[in-house]
Amino acid sequence: MSLTGKTAVVTGSNSGIGLGIARELARAGADVVINSFTDTDEDHALAEGIASECGVTARYIQADMSSADAARALIETAGRCDILVNNAGIQHVAPVDQFPPEKWDAILAINLSSAFHTAAVALPMMRQAGWGRIVNVASAHGLTASPYKSAYIAAKHGVVGLTKTVALETAEEPITCNAICPGYVLTPIIESQIPDQMKTHGLSRDQVIRDVMLVRQPSKDFVTVEQVAGTAVFLCSDAAAQITGTTISVDGGWTAL
Ligand code: NAD
Repeated sequence: MSLTGKTAVVTGSNSGIGLGIARELARAGADVVINSFTDTDEDHALAEGIASECGVTARYIQADMSSADAARALIETAGRCDILVNNAGIQHVAPVDQFPPEKWDAILAINLSSAFHTAAVALPMMRQAGWGRIVNVASAHGLTASPYKSAYIAAKHGVVGLTKTVALETAEEPITCNAICPGYVLTPIIESQIPDQMKTHGLSRDQVIRDVMLVRQPSKDFVTVEQVAGTAVFLCSDAAAQITGTTISVDGGWTAL
């Protein structure tokens, strides 16, 4: 499948899942815009690496997804957006009665509201181009809950609701909007938590992975970044043209429980 001639904007893509999705879209031929709130040499080097590896145009555009104006400016600065991947996300864990209000606001802004702002600016560009794909990276926590993650779970459920609404508003157009709901994905951040968990629980690496981290993931195996990225590329393919307004779980059976 070729995405040559398409431009993809991936929010929160200087690491983890977002970077993997940007890379996979570039391998499929799309020009890509990668993004985060920082503006370092490393950020720009990531774009240069993708450009030289995949023979596409790759740009790094700094924009803080906690700001409505910055989220909208990201798409305006990109200038074209055939594929929008809303991936930026943060987490905070605390019981509701101890949850810092500023963390609630930041999580709702970055994980949910930014997807509204980017889509609002990208949709007219997609209509102009006569084709568009919106892929929202939600979570198994967009479909189920766990204690102590109120803001994240509220935001991810909100992303699923936004996904359905945008899909209905674009249903008669060559534009689709879907959400990917990953279970636990082995990203550098998750990998870095393993030693601490081993210490806290006095368990081996395998025990932490199986009995602590993947306790709700029946496959007892992490999802890989490549598996999520491959799902995103599939959603951009012609085969997925009639898939819209839905969630695709990539969660090792989590939501089947
Ligand atoms: P990550 O921390 O590696 O990636 C998050 C990205 O968002 C980073 O590039 C970070 O720089 C960016 N970001 C954070 N705050 C930002 C801001 N204010 N403005 C712009 N960018 C910002 O983590 P990840 O695991 O790759 O997560 C990516 C997405 O996948 C998130 O939405 C997360 O909720 C979702 N997800 C992750 C998992 C998992 O197990 N890792 C599971 C389900 C869903």
